[in-house]
Amino acid sequence: MAHDAPLLMSFAEGDRSMAGLLGGKGANLAEMTRMGLPVPAGFTITTEACRDYLSHGRIPTALPDLVTGALTRLERESGRRLGDAADPLLVSVRSGARFSMPGMMETVLDVGLTDASLPGLVARGGERFAWDCYRRLVLMYGRTVLGIDPASFEKAAEAVTGPAGRDESLLDVADLKALVTEFRQVLRERTGDDLPQDPREQLDRSIEAVFASWNSPRANVYRAHEGIAADLGTAVNVMEMVYGNTGPRSGSGVCFTRDPATGEARPYGDYLRNAQGEDVVNGSRATVSLADLSDLEPTAYAELLGHLDTLEHHYRDLCDVEFTVENGRLWVLQTRVGKRSPAAAFVLAHEMAEEGLISRDEALLRVNGLQLESLMHPQFAQTSESRLLAEGLPASPGAAVGEAVFEPADAVRLAAAGTAVVLVRTETSAEDVDGILASAAVVTARGGLASHAAVVARGFGRTCVTGVMSLTVDSAARTARTSDGATIQEGDLLSVDGTSGKVFAGALAVRPSEVAGALESDDPAEDTEQPVVRAVRSLLGHADARRRLAVLANADVPADALRARRLGAQGIGLCRTEHTLLGERRVLVERFVLDDDRVSALAEMERLATEDFTGLLRAMDSLPVVIRLLDPPLHEFLPGVEALATEVARVEALDGEADSSLTRRLRVVRSWQQVNPMLGLRGVRLLAVFPELVDVHVRALVNAADALVREGLHPRPEIMVPLVADAAELRAARTRVEQCIARTRGTRASSLHIPVGVMIELPRAALTAAALAEHADFFSFGTNDLTQTTWGVSRDDGQTGFLTAYLTSGVLAHDPFVRLDETGVGELVEVAVGRGRSARPDLGLGVCGEHAGDPSSISFFDRVGLDYVSCSAPRVPIARLEAGRAAV
Ligand code: ADP
Ligand code: MG
Ligand code: MG
Repeated sequence: MAHDAPLLMSFAEGDRSMAGLLGGKGANLAEMTRMGLPVPAGFTITTEACRDYLSHGRIPTALPDLVTGALTRLERESGRRLGDAADPLLVSVRSGARFSMPGMMETVLDVGLTDASLPGLVARGGERFAWDCYRRLVLMYGRTVLGIDPASFEKAAEAVTGPAGRDESLLDVADLKALVTEFRQVLRERTGDDLPQDPREQLDRSIEAVFASWNSPRANVYRAHEGIAADLGTAVNVMEMVYGNTGPRSGSGVCFTRDPATGEARPYGDYLRNAQGEDVVNGSRATVSLADLSDLEPTAYAELLGHLDTLEHHYRDLCDVEFTVENGRLWVLQTRVGKRSPAAAFVLAHEMAEEGLISRDEALLRVNGLQLESLMHPQFAQTSESRLLAEGLPASPGAAVGEAVFEPADAVRLAAAGTAVVLVRTETSAEDVDGILASAAVVTARGGLASHAAVVARGFGRTCVTGVMSLTVDSAARTARTSDGATIQEGDLLSVDGTSGKVFAGALAVRPSEVAGALESDDPAEDTEQPVVRAVRSLLGHADARRRLAVLANADVPADALRARRLGAQGIGLCRTEHTLLGERRVLVERFVLDDDRVSALAEMERLATEDFTGLLRAMDSLPVVIRLLDPPLHEFLPGVEALATEVARVEALDGEADSSLTRRLRVVRSWQQVNPMLGLRGVRLLAVFPELVDVHVRALVNAADALVREGLHPRPEIMVPLVADAAELRAARTRVEQCIARTRGTRASSLHIPVGVMIELPRAALTAAALAEHADFFSFGTNDLTQTTWGVSRDDGQTGFLTAYLTSGVLAHDPFVRLDETGVGELVEVAVGRGRSARPDLGLGVCGEHAGDPSSISFFDRVGLDYVSCSAPRVPIARLEAGRAAV
């Protein structure tokens, strides 16, 4: 920002493009003033003034005069004077940074009221009203400007209202006067000073308190989590007070231009009669709906609806609005583009596009893969605000119900006995990982979205809420307490909503995701569909029309392939052949490796693989199906050495002599053990040792595909070779595969061509891509292994150890196994794409690692020019959406 940026601007001077200087609130107040909405007059002290204050530790010297000038203008416009005994001007002092930020100083209302000017306020709205304002001022000034803890005031109030407190609307003039006396006493006791009786001093000290609150510990913690720069500073808005607390014809409210929870196109809001400021949202009194306002104040209501419409058209988005009615007259006090639930995001974007308010491309950009992902998780059928215990950060989505436990060991023990548990901790650390894994959900009192609990829970797919500030956990006593006084005992049922960050008491009903159900179902019953389902379908449709990237699925069995196809997959980009050998079928590998029963074991493997491939090709008829040759290290299929050794020892102890066949098995298994299996005998290297094992899958694929052709179908099988480091390896593998294809067919005629490609998952493969391309019809980037081998970080061990520490301490901003590391791994991808394509212009290019389904990585894959991403079936819609957004 230029150094001569203004320190102060009146609302009439700014506009919404100036949020950096005026803060979000100030910029929108200026915009509404320009638009002619009924905004009380006022001015904004800019973020520039705040930055100056923060760097010099005192109010900029030019500011007091600027404030004086602005106040004079305000007094002229309002016809009232600050401190006037007959008709005083009161103002609100409101913080407002570029990004809305909890932890910053709150608003102080009714600033400027003094003993001397109180009679003037009585004249304006009566005695009860005036003393209510005074009570609020002393309380807010004491709490936010002087930093006195709320409990001191609550205690003082008890002397007047009794220990249970009382509905504020029932307080009479005598009560209010007594409260003012009590609260001023608190100020004197705690600070030695009374409420300043100079209105300007009240104002100046409030402004300085807002500046200083920029560096409050809570604000700093929040900024660090959200990656908001620490030196932006906040603006301060000073505006003339309007009063919602003058009686039954006044009130204050908040509303949205549409329903922010469902997206329904109808204004939604709450109104509270005879109330000021935050009364309407703090839940101390029952509010009425916006519809009821039409009966109470028909004129103000009609006017409000008109403004909502104007604002929505102006901002071309959902807006939220704070308003006040003073004796039937409407005032608008704030607006901004409103926060919305994931479901509402889809409904709003779709319907606004239908209405022509925004383009379909804009609609697509207003939703994202994370929102779709959360819509595809199970949700609570109905959340009940009355059961809400506490609220924190939505660290890992989902809806989970379980019994509260406070120790990870208890979680493990109870989970083993089949009990669903929710682990409640102050925070978690590396020793708690077993407990997290055993739990349906994790709730922590501290920590942000990158805390240990959040990172581990996301990695394991556990529901998680972190940073529940109102919760105090006593794990020794196995209880927790909320700041409202509710307690959680071990065994109490909790319902945890990882999508909203809410924790409820008791067991709420969980219902499967409507969106996932609808997208997977065969018949889209269009007219009976929920709005959110319609919106998701429509935006996905637009994404499909826009996207350049094809979306394929990783699927190993026919059921997954069918599901993926229903979800929109355009083929299979990765079938892991090892899945045809796991589970009960593992004995076949044992027979092959350990028992020298090769011929019959191979025949059985081939029979089973042929069945699997037939199912896959049938499910994906006319679409590509990429079969990857056997990849994992052999030991994954063999019995564990320890178990076998124990068995050998047991038999020996029992019979007095060793069982020779058992000892032989142990010897063979031992001989296949590797210290570093992920860098050892696996992938294409298996061909050098067990070529027959690899041939099995080629033969099965050829026979399955040729048979389907004879049935009149259109299978499109492809083969890919894993873990290749060198072109010579690939050439040998390809020769073997092609010979095997030819031999399998024998004299049988087949016009079906089977392309052979290579996985790029070693840095050397990426670097020698030009040479590899000579022998490959396509590249498929295996970004899991490529990340592992580029970073030298085990993808299987990193999650629970130092990687978590890196993420929680901020050494790493993102887990490279979750979000593609564009700087390092991404560079290798780009190098391979460039070198591969220049050697072979028609080279196919895709990615089949976990990153293929990660919303933030997809735009990278689009940018570097891949042809497709291939991800797990449930992520197919997310990838379609993100691929569409990347193309807009
Ligand atoms: P927040 O950023 O927490 O929303 P605000 O600055 O919007 O805080 O103020 C809190 C409440 O005070 C809001 O309900 C707002 O409408 C009310 N308020 C702020 N300024 C005025 C004013 N000049 N007259 C009446 N009410 C006001
Ligand atoms: Mg507000
Ligand atoms: Mg791999």
